[in-house]
Amino acid sequence: MSISNETAVALGNTEVQAIATVKLPHAVIVRAPGLLPMLYTPVELERELTVPARTVREWVGRGLPHHRDERGYLWLDGRQVAAWVKTVSQPRPRRQLKEGEAYCFHCRQAVPLVNPIRQPRGKQLLLQGVCPHCEHLIYRGGRHG
Ligand SMILES: [Zn+2]
Repeated sequence: MSISNETAVALGNTEVQAIATVKLPHAVIVRAPGLLPMLYTPVELERELTVPARTVREWVGRGLPHHRDERGYLWLDGRQVAAWVKTVSQPRPRRQLKEGEAYCFHCRQAVPLVNPIRQPRGKQLLLQGVCPHCEHLIYRGGRHG
């Protein structure tokens, strides 16, 4: 069977931004690491992850790595699904931010927060800056004073 790989296409554009906003059921987060390194159909994933196949197809539109064969059938690699679930279910930074850093959801890393704009939010202070790598807005919560 020959398969075409659309993964690079899906990850190469604005889908990357959508990744951080996918809400996954808890069962998916728990079950996805148990998927095997083989190709699944959406219906097989429905059985493995206890989500409707329709939901799996929605995730494809949100950046889930997938393959399509020459007849247009959708195939999903268990390890790639597990990696994607891990990524979108942990949008937060893996390490503590240092003083003067903020997390850029576009670059997916901590970046320097240079000359932030200070925006009071009740008792909290929201610091808004611009990522030096991609120029997307970045935010960091802080305290007054
Ligand atoms: Zn960035």
